[in-house]
Amino acid sequence: MKAVILQSPGGLEQLFYTDVLDPKIRADEVLVRVRAVALNHLDLWVRRGMPHLKLEYPHILGCDIAGEVAEVGSLVEGVKPGQKVLLHPGLSCGRCERCSEGRDNLCSRYQILGEHVRGGYAEYLAVPARNLLPYPENLDFSQAACLPLVFLTAWQMLVDKGRIRPGMRVLVHGAGSGVGSAGIQIAKLFGCEVFTTAGSDEKLARAKALGADFGINYKKENLLEAVTRVAGKQPIDVVLEHVGKALWKESLLCLKWGGALVTCGATTGPMVETDLRQVFFRQLQILGSTMGSRASQFEILRHVAAGRLQPVLDRSLPLSEAREAHRLLEEGGAFGKIVLVP
Ligand SMILES: [Zn+2]
Repeated sequence: MKAVILQSPGGLEQLFYTDVLDPKIRADEVLVRVRAVALNHLDLWVRRGMPHLKLEYPHILGCDIAGEVAEVGSLVEGVKPGQKVLLHPGLSCGRCERCSEGRDNLCSRYQILGEHVRGGYAEYLAVPARNLLPYPENLDFSQAACLPLVFLTAWQMLVDKGRIRPGMRVLVHGAGSGVGSAGIQIAKLFGCEVFTTAGSDEKLARAKALGADFGINYKKENLLEAVTRVAGKQPIDVVLEHVGKALWKESLLCLKWGGALVTCGATTGPMVETDLRQVFFRQLQILGSTMGSRASQFEILRHVAAGRLQPVLDRSLPLSEAREAHRLLEEGGAFGKIVLVP
């Protein structure tokens, strides 16, 4: 099959579009013909290499996958060749205490497709049958591939950790990013007032079309001043944070007493400065978040089917243009997801 392999950790030049052996399935697995695979910042981190991540090279990236069933393992029931599928990107043991209570993303054996194991930058992929999600029939493959990782991530951050309720004020950073554009929609779905940030007025206009109430261009104005001008001193209940260093201090200062900052990433740098007096005097919560429970995918997909949440697709490119897709994501100009099509 054709695939894009990562030869070793590094820059764009380590990605090669080439022929590799077809994957073989185990009895409890399904072979999926990949029709679309969406990029995530995770792909960039894995491509560059991370200290804790020991991979066998060549590796194959890609965790957000939509496609069709090509072959079904002998122990798998209720799945037919040709069936359209969307894949849940998280792999867990399915047997431990955390998995049993539905908190599979806290499993000590948790892995993500394309990060710890081979992913979807390929024509075919072998996955455990329990990673198959119901296909959202109102979407094409490229649109469907935009959903799993970012909506699950934003859902856990806002709904499970931030406990958003109608009337709350939520600040969602990076309106043009996958997790940002999902977070804006989820916060609106729960009846919140949504503040969002972006580096261009064009992105903010598109964020308003997704439901954001107030847009702040962080290149033109100070975040804290802009939020205070619109809503008074310290008005934010929950911050959806994934940019790291650049907006950290101001994000904490925007929070109400007792408010929560939930973080799932650090695209501008992971080392931040925190005034602990802000945290303890004002009783702020700083919460870490990665992915979400597999069960949440079903709830998210029901909202997608009803048109209450929608994928945000920037563009699709052929799989052979993976280097260009990575370049576009690193450049930060896209609004929503960049998708590769094998
Ligand atoms: Zn487990």
